Amino acid sequence: MMYDAQEEQSTQRPVPELFGSLVFNDDAMRSRVPKEIYQAFCKAKEEGLPLDETVAGSIANAMKGWAVEHGATHYTHWFQPMTGVTAGKHDSFITPVDENKVIMEFSGKELIKGESDASSFPSGGLRATFEARGYTSWDPTSPAFLKDGSLCIPTSFCSFGGEALDRKTPLLRSINALNRHALRILRLFGDTETTRVIPTVGAEQEYFLIDRKMYEQRKDLMYTGRTLLGAKPPKGQELEDHYFGVIKPRVSAYMKDLDQELWKLGILSKTKHNEAAPGQHELAPLFTTSNIATDHNQLTMEVMKQVASRHGLACLLHEKPFAGVNGSGKHNNWSLSTDKGRNLLDPGDFPQENQQFLLFLCAIIRAVDEYQDLLRISVACAGNDHRLGAGEAPPAIISIFLGEELTNIFHCLVEDHIYEAPDTTYMETSMHSRFVKDTTDRNRTSPFAFTGNKFEFRMLGSSLSVSSPNFILNTAMAEVLDGFATELENAPEFAPALRRLMQETIRKHGRIIFNGNNYSKEWVEEAKKRGLLNLPSTADAAPYYIHEKNLRLMEKHGVLSRIEMASRYEVTLENYTKQLHIEGLTMVDMIHKDILPAVCSYMKDLSQTACSKKQISPQISCQWEETLLSRLSRLSDSLAVRVGTLENALEKSGMVEGAQQRGRYYRDVVFNEMEATRAVADEIESLVGERYWPYPTYGKLLFSVK
Ligand code: ADP
Ligand code: MG
Repeated sequence: MMYDAQEEQSTQRPVPELFGSLVFNDDAMRSRVPKEIYQAFCKAKEEGLPLDETVAGSIANAMKGWAVEHGATHYTHWFQPMTGVTAGKHDSFITPVDENKVIMEFSGKELIKGESDASSFPSGGLRATFEARGYTSWDPTSPAFLKDGSLCIPTSFCSFGGEALDRKTPLLRSINALNRHALRILRLFGDTETTRVIPTVGAEQEYFLIDRKMYEQRKDLMYTGRTLLGAKPPKGQELEDHYFGVIKPRVSAYMKDLDQELWKLGILSKTKHNEAAPGQHELAPLFTTSNIATDHNQLTMEVMKQVASRHGLACLLHEKPFAGVNGSGKHNNWSLSTDKGRNLLDPGDFPQENQQFLLFLCAIIRAVDEYQDLLRISVACAGNDHRLGAGEAPPAIISIFLGEELTNIFHCLVEDHIYEAPDTTYMETSMHSRFVKDTTDRNRTSPFAFTGNKFEFRMLGSSLSVSSPNFILNTAMAEVLDGFATELENAPEFAPALRRLMQETIRKHGRIIFNGNNYSKEWVEEAKKRGLLNLPSTADAAPYYIHEKNLRLMEKHGVLSRIEMASRYEVTLENYTKQLHIEGLTMVDMIHKDILPAVCSYMKDLSQTACSKKQISPQISCQWEETLLSRLSRLSDSLAVRVGTLENALEKSGMVEGAQQRGRYYRDVVFNEMEATRAVADEIESLVGERYWPYPTYGKLLFSVK
């Protein structure tokens, strides 16, 4: 059924009223539970302590009352297993009171802890088959919300033995670790007021919209999220006429509807615009705490897909749905805030004098340099391998953009020179306005760029949860701040020790700073000289997961145990090889069942035309038919051989033992076979009549939404 924008408009409520209407937020809680209960809840939440039974019971009852008033019949412990999507089992509130009667009930116990079958979720060998049980436990720092008639309670998810099986648990643990050591640094600078340091995140999300009917005609999109075949259309994104361009009516109706749905869920959807490729768009929310931002980004992706179906559209979140045009990423804007709302990465007017800011910056420089490998892994997946280093996204090499001003400040610090701030320059933009010129421009090619008062990690793939990049960044920061704090706490004199510490850090880790063009070939060479890692694919990156240095980091800060790290390593590779396996099988299926038969009918018509012509007169030329026929014959022979090799490679994959070896095999054999097969199929497509072709072409897909 097509979506009726007019009908929707007539039922629209003012945004402030709509915002958060499906969320059991702080206001809802406060107005529905006794004051002592509310205070006990806040205290437990802040200190990360367990809730006692009476408090939990009272909150559960209030939540249920609110949910039922809003039409809910069920509740679910909503969690984020390592599949990339969220999960939950829905239980109704009904409780029988006698044979004919039920009441709606929800207990504190049900709110706090849930039992779930863990056997069908990825565990990377963590879970023995006899221990099928898993547990979910309430995360009170992210509010419950309503979705499809269910009260969704954000939870973390662990195995019977207590090991994390989800994306939330390590994130929550990393937030605590970072807080602990960041507070020590603040105390050293005389801050006695701050009681918590909280990482903040704003996740910009890119996506494609295509017509749903066309989507349903493509097995590759349906099974794998990307087109595995497809010849380039005459027009792609060459004219750069889509970026920030006028939004088409169907897309605009979609975006409006999407905003409404997100606002109801309390998601701060703020900016929307067209992206570089045709059919590509972006949504950016306002930033919030990293835990809530992570939950919200998962929800955003789900809602994007749902709303698209209502509009007869399909929302593609794959990193590379189309070859030859830009893929989609996600920008993880990250900073640190105090509980008083102070941004610790705000340089202020005189960054050169802001020692605390410079120290935090040094910590980031060291953390990113020392844990390049983990950060690279945090964005590794089969889809993202297509983007990194392909000239449309940062390379697979991690570096930091600081901008000229900060780089100079650090340069002077290391060289023991006095830094001279440049005079403020102004920019005349029109007769009426004059701006203070920013001292740093944006560098869009950098994977990890300082953008004024936050860092923007730009390597994330569009489909990924932002959890991993954040828990890794938070933990790496916790580790470095821990070291810094210990050194400074024990120093006889603070100021000289601080200066020495910053100088040493820049000397040792300054190699990670690069302000130039990250897309250039020269940078790849230069990075190699600097000893920076370049891990082009998931298969190359994954082994670093279990390097001793990384295991120690996560273990020391209580974020992931060695066993949990090993499980994540397995899951990363398993997801990667499974994805490539499905892609391979889908390609084989498409070629056997659709492409080769299509070429056959086209060739049949061509030869029949030639025969009929000859029957009329042997003198009529059939040169075109003959040339094309022989070219298509050659190409289809070659395609049949290629697809046979691919099938063979897929079959043999079962014999490759070991996660790492399997990863390599899929990257070096299966992936390469697929590329080679595709090249032949795409050449055939460019020669076969369009009405014979079994799938909507790139041109149609990319320009399908008016
Ligand atoms: P762009 O990167 O496209 O230029 P903006 O600079 O407007 O976009 O910001 C992008 C994102 O950064 C938004 O989601 C915004 O809320 C977020 N952001 C701004 N300040 C912070 C902060 N202190 N912490 C985390 N994210 C932030
Ligand atoms: Mg951005």
